[in-house]
Amino acid sequence: MQYITVLGATGSIGQSTLDVMARHPDKYQAYALTCHRDVETLVRLAQASQPEHLVVADESQYSRLCELARQANLHAQLHAGESALVTVASAQPVNQVMAAIVGAAGLLPTLAAAQAGKKVLLANKEALVMSGEMFIQAANRSGAVILPIDSEHNAIFQCLPHNYQYGDLETSGISHLLLTGSGGPFRTTPLEQLVSKTPDEACAHPNWSMGRKISVDSATMMNKGLELIEACWLFGVAPEQIEVVLHPQSVIHSMVQYRDGSVLAQLGNPDMRTPIAHAMAYPQRIDAGVAPLNFSQMTNFSFEQPDFQRFPNLRLAIEAAKANQFASTALNAVNEVSVDAFLRGQIAFTQIAQINEAILNCAPSSQLDSIDAVLSYDAEIRALAKQGLKGAA
Ligand code: NAD
Ligand code: MG
Repeated sequence: MQYITVLGATGSIGQSTLDVMARHPDKYQAYALTCHRDVETLVRLAQASQPEHLVVADESQYSRLCELARQANLHAQLHAGESALVTVASAQPVNQVMAAIVGAAGLLPTLAAAQAGKKVLLANKEALVMSGEMFIQAANRSGAVILPIDSEHNAIFQCLPHNYQYGDLETSGISHLLLTGSGGPFRTTPLEQLVSKTPDEACAHPNWSMGRKISVDSATMMNKGLELIEACWLFGVAPEQIEVVLHPQSVIHSMVQYRDGSVLAQLGNPDMRTPIAHAMAYPQRIDAGVAPLNFSQMTNFSFEQPDFQRFPNLRLAIEAAKANQFASTALNAVNEVSVDAFLRGQIAFTQIAQINEAILNCAPSSQLDSIDAVLSYDAEIRALAKQGLKGAA
């Protein structure tokens, strides 16, 4: 039996994870489920999966959690606060940790799982973007296995040779990695209309159903940029060894180009339960509840180059990937602030990239040699971004 902590259980990835687990009750048991504030959903999920621990990160919701858990007759131990997230991510009985908190809030618990030598199912790309080398080193020191949940990275992982040595494309005969992206809901929108796009329009992704932050990142293609940085760290490659390709149908989830001309791709319906089940069962394969691809219905399969005028955030992220760790950390921080402001209706869609670029241009350089330094730099950039927003809004 594998005991699993699901960080961010109430979110899109968290609930898909619980769905896969519920299909295999003989193999997986929930150890802990966590949420930010939504204790109603947390308790509902706990009734089905019966974890030993429940955590609400926002301490003001603790009494409500206690009340709901009592009404539902749950026997789980109840906790509140950020340190409890770290505790359930690194607790001794846990075999696997699904890291599915969105944003920088996921860094400490995800890192704790890596430091504790857990099998980490990594959905929270922002943690890796912020802490890069430190995160990979922590996993190497503890022997933690990091398996990518992001569909593109999971696809690349599946297309790499089994004996792939971190960072060594040459020995494996690989020319480069091909990171595919759909281009999101505004791929063909006339450029002059982007300024008036609403949060709901930005979150209406044509192929994927996801949380609101990553949905906006998909509409600006910042998501692909963060994924490029994520891929650099996960596979030990340089930004120049990754090519971004638009593939609007989201059936090919990414590819590896070999030097002999072969291209290996991983295909599937756009449903996150596939990479979740792959990583959870790795190296075995289990049923994920995902419908098989129906090739007779795939009448159109197309590819395009990304347009940096339409997607300035993608350019910013590629520049940050080529620059330094502090540039990636700064980009992640300012983007979380600007996306949040857009979702609250405080700024226009096109201002997300404008604010990101303005703050990156005035961000001080910094030596990020510890997690504390990363966290204080993250806070410094957020403060700068919030000041910038006052001017922009
Ligand atoms: P979501 O918004 O649906 O869920 C986010 C989860 O994080 C929720 O459980 C929420 O309670 C929790 N959370 C938010 N803020 C928190 C805080 N301050 N402290 C503690 N917990 C907090 O997001 P999602 O779409 O499930 O995405 C989760 C992560 O997975 C993101 O990093 C995203 O980039 C990544 N990801 C998602 C998808 C997808 O299809 N949804 C695909 C690839 C990668
Ligand atoms: Mg992805």
